[in-house]
Formats: sequence, C-alpha cells, structure tokens
Amino acid sequence: MKPDASLTIALAKGRILDEALPVLAGAGIFPTQDPGTTRKLILATNLPHVRIIIVRATDVPTYVAYGAADLGIAGKDVLMEYNNNVVYEPLDLGIARCRMVLAGPKRTLQPVHGRLRVATKYVNTTRDYFAGQGRQVEIIRLYGSMELAPVLGLADYIVDLMDTGNTLKANGLVPLETIAEISSRVIVNKAAMKMKHDQIQPLLDKMALWKKGK
Ligand code: AMP
Repeated sequence: MKPDASLTIALAKGRILDEALPVLAGAGIFPTQDPGTTRKLILATNLPHVRIIIVRATDVPTYVAYGAADLGIAGKDVLMEYNNNVVYEPLDLGIARCRMVLAGPKRTLQPVHGRLRVATKYVNTTRDYFAGQGRQVEIIRLYGSMELAPVLGLADYIVDLMDTGNTLKANGLVPLETIAEISSRVIVNKAAMKMKHDQIQPLLDKMALWKKGK
C-alpha cells in the first residue's frame, strides 16, 4: 500500500495562532487564506499535501491523539490537563509564554466554606498540584471569567493563566503561587510519526531551526 502523503496540522484560533503562523512560515508552510479571519475550518496551504485545520485549543490534543490530525500546536496548559501521554511532544516552540498561577484577593481570606475552594477550568492540573502538596481543596469547574469567582464569594482562589497580570489586577486579584511555566509545543500522533516520518521529521527540524534563529 502506498503511504499516505498528506499531512494535517491542527491549530487553534487566538493567541497561539498569531505566534504559530510565523513558525509554520519558517517551515515553508503558508495557508492560502488567513486562518484568523476565515470561517473555513480546513485550510489549504502552498504545499499541496499539507492542510491546516482550525479547532478549539482544548481539542488540539484530541484531534492529534486520534490521528484526525498528524500534528498540532498546543499550549502546555492544555497538554497538562489532557494528560494522557498518547501524543509525542517533540518540540517546545517557546511561543505564547505565560504562567499558570494560583491567584486570590489581596487580603488573605479565611476559607468561606471550611475547605478552601478553588475555581478553575484546569481541574485535573489543579487537583494534582494540591494533592502533590497534601493540601485539601474543593475544586469548582468554570469555563471562563474565573476572576469573578473570588469577587462574588464562589471560591477563595482561582487557577488561571497570567501573562501581563492586567486581568488579575483589574479584578482585585494577585498571583500567589506559580503552578507551571507555560509555552506552546508541537505535538505529533504516534502512528503518524512512524508512518509519515519522512514528512514530519524535516518539518520538526525546520521548526527547531526557526526557534534557534528567533
Ligand atoms: P493578562 O491580563 O495579560 O495576564 O492575560 C490573562 C488572560 O489572558 C487570561 O484570561 C488568560 O487565560 C489569557 N492568556 C494569557 N496568556 C495566555 C496564553 N499564552 N495562552 C492562552 N491564554 C492566555
């Protein structure tokens, strides 16, 4: 059987996309339409055998794990939360850097509800972090606007990403502990890494070169 020559790359819109496009350009891959503005979810590139799919940031590891995409670019925050070791993570691109922090109100609060409550969308990562320290917390899953939770007494603390710190500050919160340094990584489907090695390895090499020259 002739090996499949096509390559599908999963990207997410937003912060990572803006920084991922120069990486792809460095590897000689240019989408034929602007992924930031088009409504199309499958984009052709200048290379006939390479296409880009646009998915939610949290879905990038899923597409790659199941082989619906051969490779993708995902934040370490998303990868830690996905946490199933079924994709290769061969390259830290060093882009979209930020920190995952535990943040709370400026004054130290006694827990409102006995046990400390932490609101976050990073439920697994937060559970592992506190369990690793033997600290008992109740985790409340939210999908966005985490900063509101301590303000309204829903939680004592939040776990979220911080870049400039402006969002925390604007909501009267301060970073208290760093849980992880975050950057975006290239992830690769394990079977594709074997079956399409001749296409994927040169691409990884070019991306690594791009990173060095940055
Ligand atoms: P900032 O106000 O600059 O600290 O940015 C914080 C907000 O931007 C939070 O809502 C974060 O979820 C989001 N954010 C910051 N950095 C990143 C990143 N590298 N990837 C995804 N979201 C981010």
